Amino acid sequence: MDGDGRMDAVWAPPVRAAMPRGLCTDCGISRSDNPKRCGHACQFIKPDYPLLETLVHGRARDPARIDEQFFGPFRRMVRASLTAPRAGAQWTGIATRIGERLLQTGAVDAVLTMAPDPDDKWRPVPVLVTEAAGMAQCRGMRMGYAPLLALLEPARARGFKRLAVIGIPCQVYALRALERELGFERLYVIGTPCSDNTTTENFHQFLALLADDPDTITYLEFRADYHVELRFADGRVKEIPFLQLPISKLPPDFFPMTCRTCVDYTNVLADITVGYMAGQGEQWLLVRNARGEELLALLGDEVRVSELGSAGKRKGPVSGFLKNVERAAGGLPLRGMPNWLRPLMGWLMPRIGPRGLEFARARVEMKAVETVLHLRRAYPKRLRNMVPAHVWALVKPYGILPRDGETP
Ligand SMILES: Cc1cc2nc3c(=O)[nH]c(=O)nc-3n(C[C@H](O)[C@H](O)[C@H](O)COP(=O)(O)OP(=O)(O)OC[C@H]3O[C@@H](n4cnc5c(N)ncnc54)[C@H](O)[C@@H]3O)c2cc1C
Ligand code: SF4
Ligand code: SF4
Repeated sequence: MDGDGRMDAVWAPPVRAAMPRGLCTDCGISRSDNPKRCGHACQFIKPDYPLLETLVHGRARDPARIDEQFFGPFRRMVRASLTAPRAGAQWTGIATRIGERLLQTGAVDAVLTMAPDPDDKWRPVPVLVTEAAGMAQCRGMRMGYAPLLALLEPARARGFKRLAVIGIPCQVYALRALERELGFERLYVIGTPCSDNTTTENFHQFLALLADDPDTITYLEFRADYHVELRFADGRVKEIPFLQLPISKLPPDFFPMTCRTCVDYTNVLADITVGYMAGQGEQWLLVRNARGEELLALLGDEVRVSELGSAGKRKGPVSGFLKNVERAAGGLPLRGMPNWLRPLMGWLMPRIGPRGLEFARARVEMKAVETVLHLRRAYPKRLRNMVPAHVWALVKPYGILPRDGETP
């Protein structure tokens, strides 16, 4: 990279300082020419999902299609893997491979996404990738926030007219809210689900609790089989059952309020969502519209797809989670369980707990529960504008109903 952050395949132009905001994940709009646009672009102020779903997908989520209440509008959902998984990818690398194919076929001038900070591999840095070869260094998950959308103006200034963006839901909401003002000829949006993000600094604290040599951890994932997988630089792999994670040693504010209360786990405004929650060990794709089909078609026979499965029942685990969140009163929801029982439950959960689509539904409901309970406690006035109707519908079966003044 040269002085202004310009490199052949990957360009990281400098960005302005952020404007101070309350609930904010620094998606980059406050650093743009017109930071006032946060007012109508922000997921944390007054989101309008039915409107944006209609603008992006041609329709809002359909009440008759039950899974759309959890995951937003989609044409089809599949289990998927690249037949040749890519080194350094978080799963098999579908998200970055789509970016590579868009660049290889000339469908876009650039892909806007995150690369690792050269001084801290866990810190995301927004970049514009202009050649397929540059996508390899963006593979994998970083923890933290970085102002992805601050690079929209540099992209336009450099004459890019067709753009792909790979982003997390709070970034994609602002992107879609502003899409019509941005003036790109073509925009492809590849979304990943996102939950329980935190600052990169906090994440380093967590890593330090998981291993004696945290700097050698190269990979971390919260898998759908109730284990955290860690990989180390020397090739070691460690799997820790969720129940045995050192959560009680984390500070109560480890997860920022934004990430405890955001309302879109599965990136409903993306053209295609690339996640893993319903994939039972593989990836999970939600193809949401015609452009999403176009993106998946770019992979041809490099991708193997199959039907999703579903097993177990979510009601008990979600009700238990709700009790734990209530009991924690703003701290981290620890399971009230004696230590001797934890290994046994850790063994049982992947076998009898919700799996496949039922696991994904459970996680979306848990997140909806957290949204309402945390906002009630910390920002009661925000519920009215911030919580969409579909979130209220998700928590209703658990006895959580809107109180006076909590809905528009
Ligand atoms: C903080 C976080 C939490 C997540 N939680 C879930 C979850 O609960 N359930 C689920 O199904 N999926 C979740 N994901 C998505 C999942 O980790 C994978 O990224 C996704 O399944 C794609 O895998 P892949 O192998 O195709 O990605 P790859 O081909 O490896 O590409 C990953 C892409 O994600 C981008 N990226 C990495 N870190 C960040 C970041 N911090 N902010 C923005 N973009 C980033 C990279 O730049 C790259 O473009 C989460 C992602 C993040 C960043
Ligand atoms: S739009 Fe982005 S920058 Fe603005 S307040 Fe929301 S998250 Fe922060
Ligand atoms: S958890 Fe929600 S608010 Fe936090 S980074 Fe992810 S999408 Fe944004």
